[in-house]
Amino acid sequence: MFDLLIRNATLPDGRKGIDIAVQDGRIAAVEPGISAESGQVIDAGGLLVSPPFVDPHFHMDATLSLGLPRMNTSGTLLEGIALWGELRPTLSKEALIERALRYCDLAVSKGLMAVRSHVDVSDARLVTAEALLEVRDLVKPYLDLQLVAFPQDGYYRGPEAEAALGRALDMGVDVVGGIPHFERTMEDGARSVEALCRIAADRGLMVDMHCDETDDPMSRHVETLAAQTVRFGLQGRVAGSHLTSMHSMDNYYVSKLLPLMAEAQMAAIPNPLINIMLQGRHDTYPKRRGLTRIPQLMEMGIPVGLGQDCVMDPWYSMGTGDLLDVAHMAVHATQMGSVADKSAMFDAVTVNSARIMGLEGYGLEVGCHADMVILQAQDPAEAIRLRPNRIKVIRRGRVIAETAPEVSRLSLDGRPEALDPASYAPVHAS
Ligand SMILES: [Zn+2]
Repeated sequence: MFDLLIRNATLPDGRKGIDIAVQDGRIAAVEPGISAESGQVIDAGGLLVSPPFVDPHFHMDATLSLGLPRMNTSGTLLEGIALWGELRPTLSKEALIERALRYCDLAVSKGLMAVRSHVDVSDARLVTAEALLEVRDLVKPYLDLQLVAFPQDGYYRGPEAEAALGRALDMGVDVVGGIPHFERTMEDGARSVEALCRIAADRGLMVDMHCDETDDPMSRHVETLAAQTVRFGLQGRVAGSHLTSMHSMDNYYVSKLLPLMAEAQMAAIPNPLINIMLQGRHDTYPKRRGLTRIPQLMEMGIPVGLGQDCVMDPWYSMGTGDLLDVAHMAVHATQMGSVADKSAMFDAVTVNSARIMGLEGYGLEVGCHADMVILQAQDPAEAIRLRPNRIKVIRRGRVIAETAPEVSRLSLDGRPEALDPASYAPVHAS
């Protein structure tokens, strides 16, 4: 007797007609035709059942603050940072918690159950870290929140960041962050990478830096991060976020850089929505896309996880909490349009990011946590095309969010009365 049985699922790897049995919050069996009794049965009707979406790069202290204290009129990264600097001194812990919890409600409704959020530690009051540590506990039953100590104003450039970052880690923030391209000089940036990797090595922590979020083809912090990763023995524990300079770099130089990143077992976390919006701002035409080299990174075997970065905050006025929006943008901006490409992008918003965050028990294998999402789509490529409704969102074997399938009613002579968008799926040549 199982607690929950999901019948007739299509899995992201293409297996069809699969049943998934759940016992005590874990996946107990994944195979066709499970005959045992179950307390609850959900018929997936052949739709895609995926492990949860994972967002490896977010700013939960800033989310849903759009319009406070004013809008970003230029739309640039730098005005966003300045605007956040105006808002930060006015933040209260209660308001931060309220906004974060409201965002997590939205995230769960989209099947997003794990988020790595940077926490700004530039203000020595550390009200941001205090608030998000509390949120991490509050949302634990339904969302895994991992926090990165992030010196938004620069580790050396921000007057209080060096001490505050250490205190945030003492308070229990999980990961060491950084922003080398925002330090005053290239040399300060390189020194910050070294200092922050040393802290991570001393404390046994992971590293995730905003690294070269710039169009400058001469910025060299990705190289420095890879080198310091090897030097401090941090292989497999370091991620570089954004890496947009790589878009503009000389091809010969990149042919040296990619193997260095692979040797360091670095992960890459591009943020396609924000990178497309914020990069190339100094260009007239042609205008660079500024998104890092996702296809080349993937070809090198470097783990690529895609992040949202922002939802309705000083840097980005849009965002929905839906990682499929992120994958959709990535497919367009990288021109990765084949079925295999889209599958790779689906992995980049699910399994790759789970691996980068080091999530325990993630996946649809026997023994994993019974966390999954039933989508109104037939396969991963279709999920990216449609960004469909999340019919059921399941955490530890319990349904925690539901959305009715989208059906349009038509009144057209001689045409069908109802339209299910998922029924338009092509027959893929496999
Ligand atoms: Zn960011």
